[in-house]
Amino acid sequence: MSDIIHLLPDSVANQIAAGEVIQRPASVLKELVENSIDAGADTIHILIKNAGRTLIQITDNGKGMSETDARLAFERHATSKITDIADIYALQSLGFRGEALASIAAVAQVELRTRRSEDELGTLIEIAGSKVIRQEYVQCDVGTTMLVKNLFFNVPARRRFLKSDNVERIHLLNEFYRVALVHPQILFSFYDEDEELFHLPPSNLKIRIENIFGKSTKKRWEQQLLPVETSTPLAKIEGFIGRPEFALKSPYQYFFVNGRFMRHPYFHKAILMAYSQMIKAEESPNYFIYFQVDPATIDVNVHPTKTEIKFENEQAIWAILHAAIRETLGKYNVIPSINFNQEGAIDIPVIQPCDKIVPPQPSFNPSFNPFEASVYKRSSLDWEELYKGFEKNRPTTDSTLQWEQKVHPEDTDSGIALEKNQSLDTRENTSFLQLKNQYILTGIKSGLLLIHQRRAHIRILYEKFLQQLKHQKGASQQLLFPEFLEFSPEEALYFETLKKDLSNVGFIFRETKKNYYEITGIPGELDSININEFLVDLIEKFKLGQSITSEDVHHKLALSLAEASAIKAGQKLTGEEMSDLVNRLFICENPSLTPENEKILIILPLEEIENRF
Ligand code: ADP
Ligand code: MG
Repeated sequence: MSDIIHLLPDSVANQIAAGEVIQRPASVLKELVENSIDAGADTIHILIKNAGRTLIQITDNGKGMSETDARLAFERHATSKITDIADIYALQSLGFRGEALASIAAVAQVELRTRRSEDELGTLIEIAGSKVIRQEYVQCDVGTTMLVKNLFFNVPARRRFLKSDNVERIHLLNEFYRVALVHPQILFSFYDEDEELFHLPPSNLKIRIENIFGKSTKKRWEQQLLPVETSTPLAKIEGFIGRPEFALKSPYQYFFVNGRFMRHPYFHKAILMAYSQMIKAEESPNYFIYFQVDPATIDVNVHPTKTEIKFENEQAIWAILHAAIRETLGKYNVIPSINFNQEGAIDIPVIQPCDKIVPPQPSFNPSFNPFEASVYKRSSLDWEELYKGFEKNRPTTDSTLQWEQKVHPEDTDSGIALEKNQSLDTRENTSFLQLKNQYILTGIKSGLLLIHQRRAHIRILYEKFLQQLKHQKGASQQLLFPEFLEFSPEEALYFETLKKDLSNVGFIFRETKKNYYEITGIPGELDSININEFLVDLIEKFKLGQSITSEDVHHKLALSLAEASAIKAGQKLTGEEMSDLVNRLFICENPSLTPENEKILIILPLEEIENRF
């Protein structure tokens, strides 16, 4: 038998290696922009087409390459940045592996134009699938322009693996933010097709943050960012943290070490702990933290895409970071001043020293027999059981009767519950009592029904909005004064994906210029809320979820709308309003739980009431 082992051709080896480095258009953008920064550029222009699928073009005014270097740059392990393994431990550049250009050229059609200041003429090289197609002299500016066309043209499997244009755009933007945030002194422009998404002039870091992430009422960077600065032999830490009241559900959180973006869950905890007790559980503070450490004390090699970085002195730096954050929070007098939602809080009476304390009087029923049938009636608290058999009775004309039935098991054989036909209450004489402006109380056959008014309303509105989203017929009300909204490019992408659903529920808006919207109509139910804040919040929520099905979008949207427009706990209701609310609740698919599975109803069974007497 002949030998079967052979060496893979370079083009195949490069394609395989490319799988590690180049996963999507965003990885190309990252590698090319990092090269431009390593080349000392202070102006970098980015252009993408088709979310980077058909074109990613980067132009810089860096030092350029000689004719030979331009050709060599595409070889695997070709780099000007290290010569020796020891160099890795004193690394100042972003690249060093010499893999990026070889990988990109293996899976795309690449065109390079480059010139050094000392050369008259520049070099043009065209490569596709690792094959040089042409190399010649050209007239061009000092610096480098890279065009990466038709990414994965020769790897259909990879191409299919790419996500929707909007998802790929978000990846591209995220990579862009990560470099633009480290180099506020560099001018960046970012074009998506013919549209300039970003023009970031050289500035200080605070202004760079504002230029990138926009300035909505939720952000106000100028106001919220507090400086952090500390210098120790182990690490120098600088940057900004956000005031606690600006914490977000999807916060802006960035760590960089030696000019490189990194993730660091352990350091992240140091920051969260410094903020403990200052922020609501589901929110997290904004931060932009820059570490400078001796390159020999970190290992940037641990992850192929190099975002997780190991520190030699992790615990000590954790403590330094934690202390620095606490110091800033203390220095700027950040005192917890958040109004937590009072809903559901227990009202604990304050005991005055002079009050006479009466010990609780235990009450018991001497004739109580735990084995009596009545005990099993407790299962009437099990709502799943309760509704069995009712669906088929719907709809009845008398909705009062209907909800009476809904809270009665049809087959109840208890001696206490009244027979179905003996329903006492009719619409006219059902009376409702409001307790603490929060709960609605009313008698039903099997006892006392307590309803959480806000949750009931959320359930009603949720189902209504869900219907509108499915069948597209929400009524609008015109706004007397239109609202204006400005989105950051990233927010605009999310808004884009929600536009159709929003207009289905009754929003009317128009894009006056790129990323600026004028809102002239809102859903009829959404009275008296801050539309601006509502929409910004909504986009926040969508940022959190990654892959979203249309069902999930509808659920989130309907829930947000319902929560924004439902009556609040603490709102006084008239008898008519209560009766209306209760009737509408019991036409709902699921009157017992909110969309987030919180209880809406409680029944105090008659026998329990009787036992207490
Ligand atoms: P690495 O960045 O790890 O060295 P790359 O494959 O990204 O590897 O680049 C290979 C080499 O090509 C770099 O070391 C650098 O010398 C040169 N190079 C790449 N991009 C540029 C650029 N925009 N300007 C000048 N030189 C560049
Ligand atoms: Mg590189």
